[in-house]
Amino acid sequence: MYYDLHTHTVCSDGQLTPERLVAAAAEAGVRVLAVTDHDTVAAIADARRAADRCGVVLVAGVEISVSWAGNTVHIVGLDMNPADAILQRGLAQLQAVRRERAVAIVARLAAAGIEGAAALLAREGVISRVHIADWLVAQGHAPDSALAFRKFLSPGRPGYVAASWASLADAVGWVVGAGGRAVLAHPTRYRLSAGRLRQLVSAFTEAGGGALEVVSAGLDIGESGRLARLAAHAGLLASVGSDFHKALPWRRHPGGLRELPVGVAGVWTGRPQMQPQGV
Ligand code: AMP
Ligand code: MN
Ligand code: MN
Ligand code: MN
Repeated sequence: MYYDLHTHTVCSDGQLTPERLVAAAAEAGVRVLAVTDHDTVAAIADARRAADRCGVVLVAGVEISVSWAGNTVHIVGLDMNPADAILQRGLAQLQAVRRERAVAIVARLAAAGIEGAAALLAREGVISRVHIADWLVAQGHAPDSALAFRKFLSPGRPGYVAASWASLADAVGWVVGAGGRAVLAHPTRYRLSAGRLRQLVSAFTEAGGGALEVVSAGLDIGESGRLARLAAHAGLLASVGSDFHKALPWRRHPGGLRELPVGVAGVWTGRPQMQPQGV
Protein backbone atom coordinates (compact mmCIF):
# COMPACT_ATOMS: atom_id res chain seq x y z
CA MET A 1 0.00 0.00 0.00
CA TYR A 2 1.62 3.25 -1.09
CA TYR A 3 -0.66 5.55 0.91
CA ASP A 4 0.05 6.76 4.43
CA LEU A 5 -2.51 9.36 5.46
CA HIS A 6 -1.76 9.82 9.17
CA THR A 7 1.69 10.97 10.38
CA HIS A 8 3.24 13.45 12.84
CA THR A 9 6.25 15.78 12.87
CA VAL A 10 8.06 17.93 15.43
CA CYS A 11 5.36 20.55 14.83
CA SER A 12 3.21 18.45 17.19
CA ASP A 13 4.36 15.34 19.06
CA GLY A 14 6.40 13.59 16.35
CA GLN A 15 10.19 13.32 16.43
CA LEU A 16 11.08 13.97 12.79
CA THR A 17 11.18 17.34 11.07
CA PRO A 18 8.79 17.62 8.11
CA GLU A 19 11.77 17.13 5.75
CA ARG A 20 12.99 13.98 7.50
CA LEU A 21 9.50 12.53 7.76
CA VAL A 22 8.96 12.98 4.02
CA ALA A 23 12.37 11.43 3.27
CA ALA A 24 11.65 8.46 5.57
CA ALA A 25 8.26 7.95 3.93
CA ALA A 26 9.71 8.14 0.41
CA GLU A 27 12.41 5.62 1.35
CA ALA A 28 9.76 3.26 2.71
CA GLY A 29 7.83 3.37 -0.59
CA VAL A 30 5.10 5.82 0.38
CA ARG A 31 3.91 7.72 -2.69
CA VAL A 32 1.03 9.70 -1.17
CA LEU A 33 1.70 11.07 2.31
CA ALA A 34 -0.54 13.13 4.58
CA VAL A 35 1.10 15.04 7.41
CA THR A 36 -1.53 15.27 10.15
CA ASP A 37 -0.12 17.01 13.20
CA HIS A 38 -2.29 17.53 16.27
CA ASP A 39 -4.20 20.81 15.99
CA THR A 40 -1.70 22.50 13.66
CA VAL A 41 -0.84 22.78 9.98
CA ALA A 42 2.57 24.34 10.68
CA ALA A 43 4.47 21.47 8.99
CA ILE A 44 2.62 21.51 5.69
CA ALA A 45 4.63 24.10 3.76
CA ASP A 46 8.02 22.52 4.58
CA ALA A 47 6.64 19.01 4.00
CA ARG A 48 5.29 20.04 0.61
CA ARG A 49 8.65 21.47 -0.49
CA ALA A 50 10.41 18.27 0.57
CA ALA A 51 7.79 16.07 -1.10
CA ASP A 52 8.06 17.98 -4.38
CA ARG A 53 11.78 17.25 -4.42
CA CYS A 54 11.37 13.48 -4.09
CA GLY A 55 8.22 12.81 -6.14
CA VAL A 56 5.95 12.13 -3.18
CA VAL A 57 2.43 13.58 -3.29
CA LEU A 58 1.90 15.59 -0.11
CA VAL A 59 -1.66 15.78 1.17
CA ALA A 60 -2.32 18.69 3.52
CA GLY A 61 -3.66 17.22 6.76
CA VAL A 62 -4.39 17.82 10.41
CA GLU A 63 -5.56 15.75 13.42
CA ILE A 64 -8.13 17.71 15.40
CA SER A 65 -8.77 17.05 19.10
CA VAL A 66 -12.50 16.67 19.79
CA SER A 67 -14.57 16.20 22.93
CA TRP A 68 -17.53 13.94 22.27
CA ALA A 69 -19.88 12.65 24.98
CA GLY A 70 -17.18 12.78 27.62
CA ASN A 71 -14.52 11.17 25.42
CA THR A 72 -11.57 12.63 23.53
CA VAL A 73 -11.69 11.54 19.89
CA HIS A 74 -9.54 12.55 16.93
CA ILE A 75 -10.74 13.81 13.54
CA VAL A 76 -8.17 13.73 10.75
CA GLY A 77 -8.69 16.31 8.01
CA LEU A 78 -7.27 15.50 4.58
CA ASP A 79 -6.69 17.51 1.43
CA MET A 80 -8.08 20.75 2.81
CA ASN A 81 -6.81 24.27 2.29
CA PRO A 82 -4.48 24.76 5.28
CA ALA A 83 -4.78 28.54 4.94
CA ASP A 84 -8.57 28.55 5.34
CA ALA A 85 -9.41 31.33 7.84
CA ILE A 86 -12.08 29.44 9.83
CA LEU A 87 -9.91 26.33 10.09
CA GLN A 88 -6.97 28.47 11.22
CA ARG A 89 -9.08 30.21 13.85
CA GLY A 90 -10.32 26.86 15.19
CA LEU A 91 -6.82 25.41 15.38
CA ALA A 92 -5.54 28.56 17.13
CA GLN A 93 -8.25 28.05 19.77
CA LEU A 94 -7.18 24.44 20.31
CA GLN A 95 -3.53 25.48 20.59
CA ALA A 96 -4.61 27.91 23.32
CA VAL A 97 -6.51 25.11 25.10
CA ARG A 98 -3.32 23.00 24.92
CA ARG A 99 -1.25 25.82 26.41
CA GLU A 100 -3.71 26.42 29.26
CA ARG A 101 -3.85 22.68 29.94
CA ALA A 102 -0.03 22.53 30.03
CA VAL A 103 0.07 25.36 32.58
CA ALA A 104 -2.44 23.48 34.73
CA ILE A 105 -0.50 20.21 34.38
CA VAL A 106 2.73 21.93 35.44
CA ALA A 107 0.92 23.26 38.53
CA ARG A 108 -0.52 19.82 39.35
CA LEU A 109 2.89 18.20 38.98
CA ALA A 110 4.44 20.85 41.27
CA ALA A 111 1.71 20.15 43.84
CA ALA A 112 2.71 16.48 43.63
CA GLY A 113 6.35 17.42 44.35
CA ILE A 114 7.63 17.43 40.77
CA GLU A 115 9.27 20.80 40.18
CA GLY A 116 10.74 22.32 37.05
CA ALA A 117 8.19 21.30 34.45
CA ALA A 118 7.51 24.99 33.76
CA ALA A 119 10.50 24.84 31.42
CA LEU A 120 8.19 22.98 29.01
CA LEU A 121 6.05 26.07 28.59
CA ALA A 122 8.84 27.78 26.64
CA ARG A 123 8.11 25.51 23.71
CA GLU A 124 6.56 27.35 20.78
CA GLY A 125 3.52 25.91 19.07
CA VAL A 126 1.62 22.81 20.10
CA ILE A 127 2.31 21.40 23.57
CA SER A 128 1.36 17.73 23.85
CA ARG A 129 1.29 15.37 26.80
CA VAL A 130 4.03 13.55 24.90
CA HIS A 131 6.41 16.45 25.58
CA ILE A 132 5.53 16.32 29.26
CA ALA A 133 5.97 12.53 29.32
CA ASP A 134 9.38 12.82 27.64
CA TRP A 135 10.41 15.45 30.19
CA LEU A 136 9.29 13.20 33.08
CA VAL A 137 11.42 10.38 31.63
CA ALA A 138 14.42 12.69 31.14
CA GLN A 139 14.11 13.81 34.78
CA GLY A 140 14.01 10.22 36.00
CA HIS A 141 10.41 10.27 37.19
CA ALA A 142 9.46 7.38 34.90
CA PRO A 143 11.45 4.74 32.98
CA ASP A 144 9.66 5.32 29.67
CA SER A 145 6.98 7.40 28.04
CA ALA A 146 4.21 4.81 28.32
CA LEU A 147 4.81 4.54 32.08
CA ALA A 148 4.99 8.34 32.43
CA PHE A 149 1.53 8.45 30.85
CA ARG A 150 0.22 5.73 33.12
CA LYS A 151 1.73 7.11 36.31
CA PHE A 152 1.16 10.85 35.80
CA LEU A 153 -0.81 11.87 32.73
CA SER A 154 -3.85 9.60 32.63
CA PRO A 155 -7.26 10.27 34.21
CA GLY A 156 -7.08 10.08 37.99
CA ARG A 157 -3.29 10.63 38.04
CA PRO A 158 -1.51 13.60 39.63
CA GLY A 159 -0.64 15.31 36.34
CA TYR A 160 -3.94 14.77 34.57
CA VAL A 161 -6.01 17.75 33.50
CA ALA A 162 -9.15 17.29 31.42
CA ALA A 163 -9.44 19.59 28.43
CA SER A 164 -12.43 20.86 26.53
CA TRP A 165 -11.59 20.34 22.86
CA ALA A 166 -13.57 21.19 19.72
CA SER A 167 -17.07 19.81 19.19
CA LEU A 168 -17.41 17.01 16.64
CA ALA A 169 -19.57 19.23 14.42
CA ASP A 170 -17.06 22.10 14.53
CA ALA A 171 -14.05 19.90 13.73
CA VAL A 172 -15.77 18.21 10.79
CA GLY A 173 -17.16 21.58 9.67
CA TRP A 174 -13.72 23.23 9.64
CA VAL A 175 -12.28 20.46 7.48
CA VAL A 176 -15.18 20.25 5.05
CA GLY A 177 -15.46 24.05 4.92
CA ALA A 178 -11.79 24.18 3.93
CA GLY A 179 -12.49 21.79 1.04
CA GLY A 180 -11.18 18.65 2.74
CA ARG A 181 -12.43 15.23 3.79
CA ALA A 182 -12.93 14.42 7.47
CA VAL A 183 -11.78 11.02 8.76
CA LEU A 184 -12.60 9.46 12.12
CA ALA A 185 -9.11 8.44 13.28
CA HIS A 186 -8.27 5.07 14.91
CA PRO A 187 -11.87 4.19 15.90
CA THR A 188 -10.82 1.22 18.03
CA ARG A 189 -8.60 3.28 20.30
CA TYR A 190 -11.37 5.06 22.20
CA ARG A 191 -12.37 1.97 24.19
CA LEU A 192 -16.03 2.51 23.31
CA SER A 193 -18.57 -0.31 23.38
CA ALA A 194 -19.80 -1.45 19.97
CA GLY A 195 -23.04 0.45 20.46
CA ARG A 196 -21.29 3.64 21.55
CA LEU A 197 -18.92 3.41 18.57
CA ARG A 198 -21.90 3.12 16.23
CA GLN A 199 -23.34 6.27 17.87
CA LEU A 200 -20.06 8.08 17.32
CA VAL A 201 -19.93 6.97 13.69
CA SER A 202 -23.47 8.13 13.06
CA ALA A 203 -22.87 11.51 14.77
CA PHE A 204 -19.71 11.85 12.67
CA THR A 205 -21.57 10.97 9.46
CA GLU A 206 -24.41 13.39 10.25
CA ALA A 207 -21.86 16.15 10.85
CA GLY A 208 -20.52 15.62 7.31
CA GLY A 209 -17.69 13.19 8.02
CA GLY A 210 -16.39 11.29 5.00
CA ALA A 211 -14.29 8.29 6.06
CA LEU A 212 -13.21 5.91 8.80
CA GLU A 213 -9.56 5.04 9.36
CA VAL A 214 -9.80 1.34 8.58
CA VAL A 215 -6.16 0.31 8.17
CA SER A 216 -3.63 1.48 10.75
CA ALA A 217 -0.34 0.20 12.05
CA GLY A 218 -1.58 -1.67 15.09
CA LEU A 219 -4.66 -3.33 13.59
CA ASP A 220 -4.87 -6.93 12.42
CA ILE A 221 -6.84 -8.05 9.36
CA GLY A 222 -9.89 -9.00 11.40
CA GLU A 223 -10.11 -5.60 13.10
CA SER A 224 -9.69 -3.77 9.79
CA GLY A 225 -12.40 -5.99 8.30
CA ARG A 226 -14.81 -5.06 11.09
CA LEU A 227 -14.06 -1.35 10.61
CA ALA A 228 -14.52 -1.73 6.85
CA ARG A 229 -17.99 -3.21 7.42
CA LEU A 230 -18.81 -0.37 9.82
CA ALA A 231 -17.68 2.18 7.19
CA ALA A 232 -19.63 0.51 4.40
CA HIS A 233 -22.75 0.33 6.57
CA ALA A 234 -22.50 4.06 7.32
CA GLY A 235 -21.82 4.95 3.69
CA LEU A 236 -18.30 6.14 4.52
CA LEU A 237 -15.03 5.82 2.62
CA ALA A 238 -11.96 4.18 4.17
CA SER A 239 -8.58 5.68 5.08
CA VAL A 240 -5.18 4.19 5.84
CA GLY A 241 -2.64 5.72 8.20
CA SER A 242 0.28 4.58 10.31
CA ASP A 243 -0.01 7.32 12.98
CA PHE A 244 3.78 7.40 12.77
CA HIS A 245 5.40 9.57 15.49
CA LYS A 246 8.96 8.22 15.57
CA ALA A 247 11.03 5.20 14.65
CA LEU A 248 10.32 2.30 16.99
CA PRO A 249 12.21 -0.99 17.15
CA TRP A 250 9.20 -2.83 15.73
CA ARG A 251 8.21 -0.13 13.23
CA ARG A 252 11.04 1.97 11.95
CA HIS A 253 9.30 3.85 9.12
CA PRO A 254 6.03 5.45 8.14
CA GLY A 255 4.05 3.53 5.50
CA GLY A 256 4.19 -0.24 5.20
CA LEU A 257 0.43 -0.52 5.57
CA ARG A 258 -1.90 -3.25 4.39
CA GLU A 259 -4.24 -2.86 1.41
CA LEU A 260 -7.84 -1.88 2.13
CA PRO A 261 -10.26 -4.73 2.78
CA VAL A 262 -12.68 -5.47 -0.05
CA GLY A 263 -16.03 -3.69 0.04
CA VAL A 264 -14.80 -0.17 0.84
CA ALA A 265 -13.46 2.62 -1.36
CA GLY A 266 -10.41 4.70 -0.44
CA VAL A 267 -10.77 8.20 0.96
CA TRP A 268 -8.77 9.34 -2.10
CA THR A 269 -11.62 8.30 -4.44
CA GLY A 270 -12.53 11.25 -6.65
CA ARG A 271 -9.76 13.47 -5.26
CA PRO A 272 -7.19 14.36 -7.98
CA GLN A 273 -4.80 15.86 -5.37
CA MET A 274 -4.61 12.50 -3.58
CA GLN A 275 -3.47 10.35 -6.51
CA PRO A 276 0.13 9.13 -6.80
CA GLN A 277 2.40 10.72 -9.39
CA GLY A 278 3.09 8.85 -12.60
CA VAL A 279 0.06 6.57 -12.53
P1 AMP B 1 -2.48 15.03 23.90
O1 AMP B 1 -3.19 15.19 22.56
O2 AMP B 1 -1.52 16.14 24.16
O3 AMP B 1 -3.43 14.77 25.03
O4 AMP B 1 -1.56 13.75 23.77
C1 AMP B 1 -2.06 12.60 23.17
C2 AMP B 1 -0.91 11.91 22.44
O5 AMP B 1 -0.15 11.21 23.38
C3 AMP B 1 -1.39 10.87 21.45
O6 AMP B 1 -1.56 11.46 20.18
C4 AMP B 1 -0.27 9.88 21.44
O7 AMP B 1 0.72 10.32 20.53
C5 AMP B 1 0.29 9.98 22.84
N1 AMP B 1 -0.16 8.97 23.80
C6 AMP B 1 -1.42 8.82 24.27
N2 AMP B 1 -1.46 7.84 25.18
C7 AMP B 1 -0.20 7.38 25.32
C8 AMP B 1 0.41 6.36 26.11
N3 AMP B 1 -0.29 5.64 26.97
N4 AMP B 1 1.73 6.17 25.97
C9 AMP B 1 2.45 6.90 25.11
N5 AMP B 1 1.94 7.87 24.33
C10 AMP B 1 0.63 8.09 24.43
MN1 MN C 1 0.19 11.92 19.01
MN1 MN D 1 -4.82 10.27 17.45
MN1 MN E 1 -2.11 10.74 15.27
